[in-house]
Amino acid sequence: MKCKQCEKKAVIRLRAHHISLCREDFLAFVLNRVQRTIDKYKIFVPGERVLVAVSGGKDSLALFDILQRLGYAVEGLHIDMGIDGFSQRARNVVEDFLAKRDAPLHLHALGEEAGAGVPEIASQLQRPPCSLCGMMRRYVMNRFAREKGFTALATGHNLDDEGATLLGNVTSWQIGYLARQSPLLPSTHPKLVTKAKPLALLAEREVLAYCLLRGIEFHEEQCPHSKGATSRNHKEVLNLLEYYSPGSKIRFYQEFLKNQRIFSAIESHALQECSVCGSLTTRETCQFCTVLGKLRGSSRAASDRIGASKG
Ligand code: AMP
Ligand code: ZN
Repeated sequence: MKCKQCEKKAVIRLRAHHISLCREDFLAFVLNRVQRTIDKYKIFVPGERVLVAVSGGKDSLALFDILQRLGYAVEGLHIDMGIDGFSQRARNVVEDFLAKRDAPLHLHALGEEAGAGVPEIASQLQRPPCSLCGMMRRYVMNRFAREKGFTALATGHNLDDEGATLLGNVTSWQIGYLARQSPLLPSTHPKLVTKAKPLALLAEREVLAYCLLRGIEFHEEQCPHSKGATSRNHKEVLNLLEYYSPGSKIRFYQEFLKNQRIFSAIESHALQECSVCGSLTTRETCQFCTVLGKLRGSSRAASDRIGASKG
């Protein structure tokens, strides 16, 4: 197998693109693809400070590496969700990765703010940990970016993530979500930062190969609470399609983006300011403050019970 560009020995075959590439040309292909995504969807403006949400996983570390190589002024934000040993190990990986790069790392520990990590909050409030974790993470990311004056927040979502989300939204015809799924979600309000997914046109396998070939050491562990996530089923379905018909995954997503305006006209959702923290929400009190309020209520009730039993 020879590299399509230089005839050297190829290290990877990209069936979706009908090419095989050597190490150097594959690394260049990845950088080029991300730059083209940024240009096509006007994700960043030159000179913009970019905040990358780094979990420690392969996608967000690859994203950080790529944006730095492309010349963007990137800073990292890591949120410690307080999940058993998992969060500690993720945090160590992120700290090691950023220590070797000339870029700031911002750390936010959910436990310090909420008084507990995700597993305890979930069991106290009897809510599924995954959705709670996602909601709280998105809240902290947006608030942090806004307070520190970043105009955009970049996450490591790749083509498989976006394809799986799209498939989920299509199978249940979530028109509102379909209108808003894009590599760039521009801010619609001063309190909402722009969300960017510069890896949206790179398959998970390509991101993984990038990390391995660059020697990026990432956190490989699955979150102990993520077992059975439906997005994993959707990814499997898309991988099966891709196996039988290479290029299906990228076609599914890109053709959707080309035709997305069909859904845009239908979307409408009224936002108001949260009565507690002032962030934007569709309810009177945002979900994050609702969770913190319930937590404080349940610990007050517990201490009242203890007080009553002592009395
Ligand atoms: P996930 O929802 O776990 O697939 O993560 C999607 C993206 O969110 C990652 O690629 C990161 O950019 C970001 N992310 C996830 N977890 C964290 C975290 N604990 N701290 C900062 N960013 C995160
Ligand atoms: Zn709030």
